[in-house]
Amino acid sequence: VRVLGLEASCDETAAAVLDGQGRIMAEAVLSQEAEHARFGGVVPEIAARAHLAALPGLAARVLDKAGLGYGDLTAVAGTAGPGLIGGLIVGSGFAKGVAIARGIPFFAINHLEGHALTARIPGLLDQPPPAFPYLLLLLSGGHCQCVAVEGVGRYRRLGTTLDDAVGEAFDKAAKMLGLPWPGGPHLERLAAQGDASVVALPRPLLGRQGCDFSWSGLKTAVAQRVAKGDARAEDIAAGFQAAVAAVLADRAAHALAMFPAATAVVVAGGVAANGAVRAALARAAAARGVPMLAPPLRLCTDNAVMIAWAAVERLHAGLPADSLGHAPRPRWPLEELLSGLAPI
Ligand code: ATP
Ligand code: MG
Ligand code: FE
Repeated sequence: VRVLGLEASCDETAAAVLDGQGRIMAEAVLSQEAEHARFGGVVPEIAARAHLAALPGLAARVLDKAGLGYGDLTAVAGTAGPGLIGGLIVGSGFAKGVAIARGIPFFAINHLEGHALTARIPGLLDQPPPAFPYLLLLLSGGHCQCVAVEGVGRYRRLGTTLDDAVGEAFDKAAKMLGLPWPGGPHLERLAAQGDASVVALPRPLLGRQGCDFSWSGLKTAVAQRVAKGDARAEDIAAGFQAAVAAVLADRAAHALAMFPAATAVVVAGGVAANGAVRAALARAAAARGVPMLAPPLRLCTDNAVMIAWAAVERLHAGLPADSLGHAPRPRWPLEELLSGLAPI
């Protein structure tokens, strides 16, 4: 088995080839960050054009690195949603083109399924990969969800954000503190020089039933504190990060209580890079006797390895490939993958 995966749903253009055991034969990610930075966020039209310009060359380079040609592939997978429609059309359309040209199966992969299954790639973690069922915390710039992962294609959303995604909250708080976009990593560095106990900030939904999230109140509190001008930026950053970490740990604890069968907490998305967040989530998981697992950072953020891997998992699970008529979907809740699967 040789699967080419393609990802272009947001602002990373990525390609990867995996074999049937999940061995990464080659991979590459091109970030468009520099192209969007001066606009302070991803501009969909610029993203779509950049994907279109980059993808054919990137796919060819990755195949070359793997020592393969298009004729050696057994399947091709492209992200078909959720995400920005222009990029989804480019990525999944390119994958369909390869499928047609080579007469191989095409998999329309849900981006969130990619994040959900990455930790299962054999040999990726320094501990055994998680077995089903496990809890996924997807913490990125576009998503903020607790997901029960019960099997390949079997996902239940336990909670989600009522307003912003957590990465978005990091980016907005960072912007208020005068940091460049995307601000999460900058804010973490600034927070390291601050004292979290100086600036008390709200912890939205802490202790509340369920495992939904809300970040707007915290964001407003940061804005007010910055406007007041009486606190050091590093202390506000530290206070913000501590508030986010405390809320995430509380929400994770509630999610585990809602999903007691979970054997692990898997964290994915760019915010999983944050040390304070990881430490808080590890404590919350340990309190319920399960490990917290996070893929290596380059596979926590958007990449094509996870897209190829989701197709490998689908092949192994005996799930069918997708029709070449499959239409990409900007909104595509994970639960909708369940339709068409046999009951457990
Ligand atoms: P999607 O939501 O579609 O997965 P994305 O590009 O928005 O895509 P990622 O690339 O997974 O998401 O993550 C980017 C987000 O992670 C940004 O909001 C960024 O600020 C945040 N982030 C990255 N590193 C850190 C960090 N060390 N601390 C806090 N936030 C971080
Ligand atoms: Mg990104
Ligand atoms: Fe993502």
